[in-house]
Amino acid sequence: MQLVFATNNLNKLKEVQSMLPEHIKLLSLKDIACKEDIPETQPTIEGNAIQKAEYLKEHYGYDCFADDTGLEVAALNGEPGVFSARYAGPQRNANDNTNKLLTELKNKPNRNAQFKTVIALHLNGKLHSFSGICKGKITTERHGEGGFGYDPVFKADGYYKTFAEISLEEKNKIGHRGKAVAQLIDFLKQ
Ligand code: IMP
Repeated sequence: MQLVFATNNLNKLKEVQSMLPEHIKLLSLKDIACKEDIPETQPTIEGNAIQKAEYLKEHYGYDCFADDTGLEVAALNGEPGVFSARYAGPQRNANDNTNKLLTELKNKPNRNAQFKTVIALHLNGKLHSFSGICKGKITTERHGEGGFGYDPVFKADGYYKTFAEISLEEKNKIGHRGKAVAQLIDFLKQ
């Protein structure tokens, strides 16, 4: 069985592939010669994941899955949410996005936030979705060199280190994407 993962990130692809039964072979966007930018124009994280999976099915015909992630901050009414990648502008720069977040939260006592990942799966003509949430707090300063995106300013609940200070293995265990992927894998194994 072949399944397209709507990504060109080979690390993500390998990681998910290694958790799947052998008869499920994952293909990347490159493997199916998909070079265009897949539209992500929906107002929600769920909507974008579904839009990407439906686009691939419609234009390439493969069963597939797509993921979308956002950071939802309580004191900012859930922002940046679906705009997480381009919070500070179309340059999609993680450093700029983090600076903007810290500025918006300056002097705000409520630092509660959550990462949310939604995976939409198009399989045998049906759409399924899986979501993973990781609750935590936004720090007042950056800590750590690892990870990416907002990792240096996000501490998961129960942790005294940011996502940029813990190992990838640990982040995958407690993180939003890891939880959503675990659900996808359980479903595919059934
Ligand atoms: P995407 O949907 O995986 O492309 O994620 C959208 C944006 O959310 C990224 O550009 C990052 O800014 C942010 N983001 C997603 N996942 C993470 C994460 O695990 N840690 C920190 N930031 C993330």
